[in-house]
Amino acid sequence: MSNMLFGNCRCGRVRLEIDAERANIVNCHCGDCRQLSGSAFSTYLVVAAKNFRIAAGADDLTSYRPSEKGMRGFCQHCGSPILVQNQRYPNLRMIPLGVLHPDDELVPKINIFSDSRLSWVAFNCQTTDFAREIER
Ligand SMILES: [Zn+2]
Ligand SMILES: [Zn+2]
Repeated sequence: MSNMLFGNCRCGRVRLEIDAERANIVNCHCGDCRQLSGSAFSTYLVVAAKNFRIAAGADDLTSYRPSEKGMRGFCQHCGSPILVQNQRYPNLRMIPLGVLHPDDELVPKINIFSDSRLSWVAFNCQTTDFAREIER
């Protein structure tokens, strides 16, 4: 079975190819993820940087730095979030679940920043909570 996943932004200019072997799927409840997604939390596929490739539209990406170490990449035409990086984890890439397909097989197992989780957010899958980041 192939572990390849594909993704694209809403307007289709930016296209992703990901080898999802050993990927983790993580919900992040931090304030940045809430504000920058406009939603109650964000769900990401977390992969090794070497397993992530921008197959098309690299020039259509732009970025925003919410903090000294953080970087958010998004399509400058349609605004779809494409990529989250943090210099604390230079070898990891976080890809928002909503730009990947198929996405229904990607079930989160981990919540991070669960101490910021909104009180009404609950999950119909088995998850492990970390109050803040996962320490390495
Ligand atoms: Zn786009
Ligand atoms: Zn976050």
